[in-house]
Amino acid sequence: MDSVRIRRSDERILDRRGLDLLIEVLRGRGYRVVGPTVGDTAIILGELDSGADLPAGWGVQTGPGLYRLHRRDDDAVFAHSSGPQSWKQYLHPPRRQLWSTDRDGPWEPPAGDETPYAFVGVHGCDLAAIAVLRRVLCPDPDADTPTARRFRNLFVVAAHCTEPGGVCFCASMGTGPAAGPGHDLALTELLDERGHRFVVDVGTEAGGAVLGDVECRAAESDDIDTARSAVADAAHGMGRHMPDTDLRGLLRRARDADVWQEVADRCLTCGNCTMVCPTCFCTTTEDTTDLTGEHAERWQHWSSCFELDFSHLHGGNVRNSGESRYRQWMSHKLGTWFDQFGSSGCVGCGRCIDWCPVGIDITEEAARLSHLLPPWEDDR
Ligand code: SF4
Ligand code: SF4
Repeated sequence: MDSVRIRRSDERILDRRGLDLLIEVLRGRGYRVVGPTVGDTAIILGELDSGADLPAGWGVQTGPGLYRLHRRDDDAVFAHSSGPQSWKQYLHPPRRQLWSTDRDGPWEPPAGDETPYAFVGVHGCDLAAIAVLRRVLCPDPDADTPTARRFRNLFVVAAHCTEPGGVCFCASMGTGPAAGPGHDLALTELLDERGHRFVVDVGTEAGGAVLGDVECRAAESDDIDTARSAVADAAHGMGRHMPDTDLRGLLRRARDADVWQEVADRCLTCGNCTMVCPTCFCTTTEDTTDLTGEHAERWQHWSSCFELDFSHLHGGNVRNSGESRYRQWMSHKLGTWFDQFGSSGCVGCGRCIDWCPVGIDITEEAARLSHLLPPWEDDR
């Protein structure tokens, strides 16, 4: 796997003050700048008023059903793996109004706030997730819709990952630890006797223009080599990996196999895994009217294939058991997503493992299936 994509010709060095300036410049250019912050005993995403809002000196410990913040003995700002939220909440909001109307009035789409976003600190897995969401939600990327405009106007400052967590497996999904295409700028954070600094590579012209407004210097070879090895080492430090097998064929073979009850016996069908997943995109709609019957609204909100009513068709639910709902989720993520959208629906961020209250682990379930159902010749 090509895990390090830092191009030697473009690299610059930002110091810690330079990162703060980068955020100021993005705000000055009219972006709503969003990045990691500390809140609610987790690394959560929030609007950055300045670089002081970044989680300097905080790290995380992760495992199945486990997420703990801890203080680090340095001031790293991006040395944490995925938190409970993802960038999805900005690109595909959890709840939004589709329209409203009055009895004799016009049908009104809501006046949306279309301030463009700049995301700061996007790891490789999440950059891949943004690309997946873009394919799913904007089949026509040039469409004149609020969602397509949100993706088009997005500015991304990626953070090549140097400190993967216990549930990370992006290296085995080919989505990290280096951030792939889709970033405007990408940073590798370095902290050593030479100071706290970021090797920056420029991904787009827009990235170059923004960086031109920030004081930075040319990177030296030592810095570039140190950055490359930190990212390469991260590929070997992942706590998990997805089995190296044809997952699409595996899930197809598993459809009618007698293997799903065991995981269903543990699964609470709570839907946490789908809510935290950066690529799960399912929604439902609800209509409301006021008590006078004069005003009506339609809202869209996130939904989950673990909800019983999600499979309601013509007077009945077609996936009544936890077994059928877990099978649906995993088969879609790792199998039929390829047929629909041309890629895996899983980017290896590990959130569903962290935030599953009973610690169900998609990599363990895939490994169990691959042992029980070895490949057939005609899978490939
Ligand atoms: S399925 Fe789990 S590991 Fe894969 S992208 Fe979704 S939350 Fe991350
Ligand atoms: S796998 Fe875990 S997080 Fe997902 S629905 Fe089941 S219990 Fe909830």
